[in-house]
Parts: sequence; C-alpha cells; structure tokens
Amino acid sequence: MKPLILRGGQQRGPRFWGVEKHADLQIAAAALNLIVESPWPDCAAQKFIGRMPMDKELFFRRRRAGAASRLAAAICSFSLFLVAPLVAAAPGAAAHLLIYSIDVEGGQSTLLVSPTGSSLLIDTGWPDNNGRDTDRILAAMHDAGITKLDRVLITHFHVDHVGGVPDLVKRVQVGEFLDHGENREDSDITRHDYAAYLKAIEGKPRRIVHPGDKIEVPGLGIVVLTADGNVIHTIPGIKPVPNPYCAPEPKWTLDASENPRSAGILVTYGRFRFLDLGDLTKPKEVELVCPDNPIGHVDLYLTTHHGLDQSNSRAIVDAIHPRVAIMNNGAHKGGSPEAWQTVHSSPGLEDLWMLHTAEDSDAAHNSPEELIANPKGDGDGAYFKVVASQDGSFSVTNSRTGQTKEYPKR
Ligand SMILES: [Zn+2]
Repeated sequence: MKPLILRGGQQRGPRFWGVEKHADLQIAAAALNLIVESPWPDCAAQKFIGRMPMDKELFFRRRRAGAASRLAAAICSFSLFLVAPLVAAAPGAAAHLLIYSIDVEGGQSTLLVSPTGSSLLIDTGWPDNNGRDTDRILAAMHDAGITKLDRVLITHFHVDHVGGVPDLVKRVQVGEFLDHGENREDSDITRHDYAAYLKAIEGKPRRIVHPGDKIEVPGLGIVVLTADGNVIHTIPGIKPVPNPYCAPEPKWTLDASENPRSAGILVTYGRFRFLDLGDLTKPKEVELVCPDNPIGHVDLYLTTHHGLDQSNSRAIVDAIHPRVAIMNNGAHKGGSPEAWQTVHSSPGLEDLWMLHTAEDSDAAHNSPEELIANPKGDGDGAYFKVVASQDGSFSVTNSRTGQTKEYPKR
C-alpha cells in the first residue's frame, strides 16, 4: 500500500468531485487513505489527511446540498480538480504529523497536529498587539484544518510563552492546559503573567506535568523530559548512551528565573523525532544529557530559548545530532551568533531554518534567505510547516516563499 499526496493548484488530475462537509472528507480520508491540500482558503475544510491504497480510484460523490453549499462545493471541487501527479511514498507509511513553527516575534508557539487531527499547542506567544499571536495560531490551525485545540502546553510562565493565553481562550476552545506547576520566579512581571494565566484558565481542565509523564495525543508518542527544574534520566524504550560531548562543557551557573523550569518534550511519530525544550537554560540541558544522553538523536530540533546563548550548549546540541533545526527567534530576540554557530556546526545538521533574520547578528551567523521565514523585520508572520512521516522522512515549507524542502528517510 502506498500513500498518495495530492496538492491543489498545480496540475489537472483525474475524476474528482467536490464534497461539502469536512466530515465527508474525513470519512473519505479514512476509506481512501488520502492526503489533499487545497490552495483556496475557502476550501480549507477540504484539507484532510490519510492514505489511499494504490489499487483504489480517487472518487468523491457529490451529495445533495443547498445552493450555498453547492456553490462552495463547486469552488472546492475545482480546487480538487487541480491536483498534482500522485506522489507515492514508502509502502506501509502512515499519514502525517504536522508541526507549525508559528512566528510570534521572538516568543514560542508551536502547533502539532496528529494524523487523526488531534492537536497540541506548545505556548501561545505574547499578549496584546490586537491579538496578533492568536491570529497567527488561528492561521496555522486553519491551514491544518482544525477548529479547536485538544491541549495547550505552557512551557513556563514568561510572557513570550504564556502571554497569549487570555486572548487565545476567548477565541479558541481548548480541551486541557498543561504546565509545570506554580510560578517559581520572584519577579513582579512573571507573577503578573502567571496570575493572568490562572485567571484565563479558571474553570478549565489543568494538569501539572512531571518528567516521565506522557501527553496523550493519539497517534503520537509525547514524553515530558523536563519540568519545574527536574529532568528525566531514562525514557522508556530508549537506552541512554554515554555522551562524549559532556567533558568539554563548562560548568554553568543556574539562573533563578522560570527558564530552567521549562517543561520540555520529546515527540515521536514512528521513526520521526522532534525535541522542544522551551527556554531551558544550559545547566539543566547539561543535567539532562550528562553523563548519559537519554534522548538519542532527533530529526527536528526547535532551538531552545529562541537561539539564545544562555541555552543550546554543545553538550546537548551535538549529542542529539539534529538533522534539521528551526530557530524561533525574532528580529531582535534570540539568534545569538554563538548559539547559531553551535547549532549550525553540530554533527549531521542539514539545515538551520530561522523564523527571522537575526538583525543584531551578522551575515556569517544568519542562514541563507530561503531558509528564513521573515527576512525583513517584524510583522510578516510567515511560518514553517513541517510534514513528517512515520518512516522518518519529512519536509519543511517556508510559508513566505511556498518552497518546500524534502528530507528523505534514511
Ligand atoms: Zn522565551
């Protein structure tokens, strides 16, 4: 069985009909195991995920509908007529995990959507700016074809991560909030942001996570590696290995902020592995991977702490051997030359994508423009979309350029 991927807007394909409802598409997706991506915003509901056996024809039957939905169906069926040549992937491969690295101008907001449409949002960006960061989260959700969030993980209580929650909950239904427990930072600003978070999620389910906990997202394996200053030393099913990069690592001093309390997670989808440690700082990174590395290698690494030099120690970056890194920096936040260099020169790295040009750095410590989502200052909000397969292959799309780079399975 080979999965087929159809992408709208490129080339005419055979025998497609519109379908009116997302539910119909989900049924079709389940039956046919098919991926369709429509370029028309009005047809976002037509985006669905699955696989189709090679021996079945692609055929959707138009149902009876009112004039409005007939029109919508006509528009959307047109987009479905415009399909690319069928792309066959490896036999037995499943559908896709989607990961959106959303530009929140130097904060974090990362959306994971499983093949069955289950979702986890990691952090919510900043408050204010007329709901800018919620707008951008909603844009990613729209692209993924989801309308609610099953879970939101707040890595820690700094404003660039938790600040978006009050606006988010007004506009998006959230099933459960996860975090590391109470604020540990003795500062008025973080006390304020923590209080605003508690007020915003009042009456909603909240769960405190600890290292070793699983986060239930059907189809994915998600384990908490760090939380509230505690770190995991063994992950079920993974044998820790001695880490040769620990010896040269300097002794770092622990900071008293919320950063080292960050809830960090490892996401597994088949052979594909993604690491997001929030803003964990170097002493805790080293504690996590020294003397033994419990994580192993990862395919995708969200650079910790926006690519700041307070994080991204060589002991962890070299040990996890990322294939691709995404730096969630802003134009003037993160992206420090030292951290950029550490990640860029880590063994096995193929590409370092950046949400922004690091304007306070230099050309030698910025990636080529095609790997940057927002090369010219604030405000554009372009994002990266990662589409990962169970066989470990994945792609990264820069929403600014529309260009996609494939990383084949190894
Ligand atoms: Zn941050």
